[in-house]
Amino acid sequence: MTDEGWGEVRAKLQSTLGADAYTNWIEPLSLIKTEGKVAVFRTPTKFIGNWVNRNYGARICELMNANGACVDRLEFSVQTATPQPEKKPAKTYHEAPPAKSAKSDLPTSPLDKRLTFENFVVGQPNELAHAAARRVAESDAVSFNPLFLYGGVGLGKTHLMHAIAWEIRNNRPDARVLYLSAEQFMHKFVQALRFKDMLTFKDMFRSVDVLMIDDVQFIAGKESTQDEFFHTFNALIDQNKQIVISADRSPNDIDDIDDRIKSRLQWGLVVDIHPTDYELRLGILQSKMEANLVHYPDVVIADGVIEFLAHRISSNVRVLEGALTRLFAFASLVGKEVTLDMAQESLADVLRTTQKNITVEEIIRKVAEHYHLKVNDILSARRARAVARPRQIAMFLAKNLTSKSLPDIGRRFGGRDHTTVIHAVKKITELKESDAAIAEDVELLRRMLEA
Ligand code: ADP
Ligand code: MG
Repeated sequence: MTDEGWGEVRAKLQSTLGADAYTNWIEPLSLIKTEGKVAVFRTPTKFIGNWVNRNYGARICELMNANGACVDRLEFSVQTATPQPEKKPAKTYHEAPPAKSAKSDLPTSPLDKRLTFENFVVGQPNELAHAAARRVAESDAVSFNPLFLYGGVGLGKTHLMHAIAWEIRNNRPDARVLYLSAEQFMHKFVQALRFKDMLTFKDMFRSVDVLMIDDVQFIAGKESTQDEFFHTFNALIDQNKQIVISADRSPNDIDDIDDRIKSRLQWGLVVDIHPTDYELRLGILQSKMEANLVHYPDVVIADGVIEFLAHRISSNVRVLEGALTRLFAFASLVGKEVTLDMAQESLADVLRTTQKNITVEEIIRKVAEHYHLKVNDILSARRARAVARPRQIAMFLAKNLTSKSLPDIGRRFGGRDHTTVIHAVKKITELKESDAAIAEDVELLRRMLEA
């Protein structure tokens, strides 16, 4: 088969396998010759050859045959490619010999371009995790080993992992960084077992400079994968290679994981990413808003909308991002300024599911506490302003933060009539406009209740 013919096959593979798989597996290969029914390729490592043969062998034969060849088998010869002069200009005298072939032979998962330190907004809940991640990424010496990051879903663990990988790649292009989800780790392990290729598997994992495993809780309960992970882990730690691990909970809280692994995971630094707070959410929204404006320059979002979202969508950044994306798409469709009402309407489903189930009793308790009253004062018949006003505020909040009906709310306020509740809601709505102190109190209470 000619080089051209192989070129066509490669092009077809690129479009069917996708850019990442193509770059990882097909690009490093070159066709040496076809001999009888065998196509012989040059591969930089045995691992790549085996992988391609196993996963894409049949497909490659098929495509080659469709292009005029007649092969039924692939063979791989391990040879480093001849140096390409245009890529590497004349070597200077001091240049070190090329390090272990650069990262290209590592089956690392693709890194997302957007997940960099630059795009990571730092606030109190993630401050420590961010600082630790930076330290690991920037220092040449191994600092904390392993670095164990944990936190709830959508709080930025994967973001920080990618950011570390990007940063190391930039600072130390020769470093072999392998980033994988625990699920992919297991997948590769199982494949290696199945194809009796454990040596290559072990070699590959033990030859990295930085190993990053995302969502390690996934291997809980999977015994042989755990064992292999443990051995890999120990081998790398012994060689003083950096390991970074993430999970959705602390090492101690991962059930079904071997005690020796638990204790090893805590050798280095364990940091958690806390749920977001209002300020962090606002910061993230503002930064994503700027990014979105690049794509939708004409969109205008009314004042207060971003604050509203930061306020109402708590804890998960992914949901927050999704809401903003939806809002921008919506705005560009309607072609006018997005008001708070429009935002509320277009995001009704998101807002509903993230709304906490606040009870009337909770509201009464919080309001009483805030005004240094007793719950019974609020429920009582006393009409003194010092009691009546907080009671009205509590009713107003009950109407706005719960889905209870007016009669139901009335009943829960010491058996009052629903017209009393209507009156209270009307009164507080008016007062919020005219009395800044009341408006502030109501806002504060709402925030505390929704937090
Ligand atoms: P996890 O892995 O913890 O479930 P991710 O890292 O996938 O969460 O984060 C979910 C989404 O939220 C990603 O798009 C990520 O970029 C974004 N995100 C999370 N935290 C931040 C942050 N502090 N600054 C900017 N974006 C963030
Ligand atoms: Mg993740």
